[in-house]
Amino acid sequence: MKFAERMGRLGTETAFEVLARARALEAQGRTVVHLEIGEPDFPTPEHIVEAGCKALRDGYTHYTAAPGIVELREAIAQDASTRRGLSFTPDEVVVTPGGKPIMFYSILALVDEGDEVIYPNPGFPIYESMIRFVGATPVPIQFDEQRDFALDVDALCAAISSRTRMIILNSPHNPTGGMIARADLERIADAVRPHPDLMILSDEIYSRMIYGGEHVSIATLPEMRERTIVLDGFSKIYAMTGWRLGYGVMPRELAPRVTQLLINSASCTAAATQIAGVAALTGPQDAAEAMVAEFHRRRDLIVGGLNEIEGLTCQTPQGAFYAFPNITATGLTSREIADLLLTEAGVAGLAGTSFGAFGEGYIRLSYANSAEQLAEALRRIKTLLEARNLRPATAAGAR
Ligand code: PLP
Repeated sequence: MKFAERMGRLGTETAFEVLARARALEAQGRTVVHLEIGEPDFPTPEHIVEAGCKALRDGYTHYTAAPGIVELREAIAQDASTRRGLSFTPDEVVVTPGGKPIMFYSILALVDEGDEVIYPNPGFPIYESMIRFVGATPVPIQFDEQRDFALDVDALCAAISSRTRMIILNSPHNPTGGMIARADLERIADAVRPHPDLMILSDEIYSRMIYGGEHVSIATLPEMRERTIVLDGFSKIYAMTGWRLGYGVMPRELAPRVTQLLINSASCTAAATQIAGVAALTGPQDAAEAMVAEFHRRRDLIVGGLNEIEGLTCQTPQGAFYAFPNITATGLTSREIADLLLTEAGVAGLAGTSFGAFGEGYIRLSYANSAEQLAEALRRIKTLLEARNLRPATAAGAR
């Protein structure tokens, strides 16, 4: 079959491929500890499930307005205003099936062939995939492990050119768990202001999953709101990945364009799912808060455990639910170690390079799994590295 040329430029998310390989091993009778997929292992809170079921029974089984039902857009505008200290209105909100389509739509709406887009690398793989898909040039910005995976702001500011059309920020950051501090955001905003057509896509999907410190949205800095698209959603904080519900809060003149793309693709987000979203935002928040507290406990467990394993070092992530240990002392590449962990130790994680070329030297382990499973994964990793002699002093000999 002859595919469109642009398909050759489209990337993917390897988490789904690793999950399929892990399931195939399980079908052969092997046990696998799943640390590959980025989704909470908690159920959606009961009152949200109830609201969704009731909505279906009440007849929310039809199309809705393309950018979302008014009740949900109002609830999102209210929530975004409270959390970010700004005053958003529903016409700045577009609801989508998951947060991911906001990347797709905003890049399609704003970025032309030949433009440049600055994005985090390692980073969520869909950023680079979409930048290439539209024929733009991806300009990667690295993270500094020595500075708790803070974004290299000097490099970012130096990379801005007259062709830069968009900067993608993600804080807390997948895969490192790093956050962008207010002072760094202020420097980015200073560098952006002189470029009137430069837009910011601020992926804040993990903004409520932080373990200390403050989350700052660049939209709150002077003159930044009118050029920022805030991507957020329900998948992570309300454990609703399968419902497909997310949104963008964006400048008023961009929202109709993004809506037009939605009309040309999904039409709208599932009606009952949107009602469940209203219940999530306006109902009790204790389940979400308890989940974050549990992730905090697990973060300490996995980071502590990884640092005790000879051959690995792991920074403490400040948000999200991923550990990103440095594996260079093992002498293997991140792809080799991820494969070995899966096939020999039955631990499914992702090679750092699944998040871009600068992820070499790391693996990503999601700690959205029980404390018992995390302890088991640590035990298996340690046993494998010892059995294979993949430790600093002997790494060279082991290759
Ligand atoms: N942004 C980041 C950084 C993510 O890690 C994810 C999911 O893994 C998303 C956005 C998209 O989430 P969803 O489309 O499920 O809302």
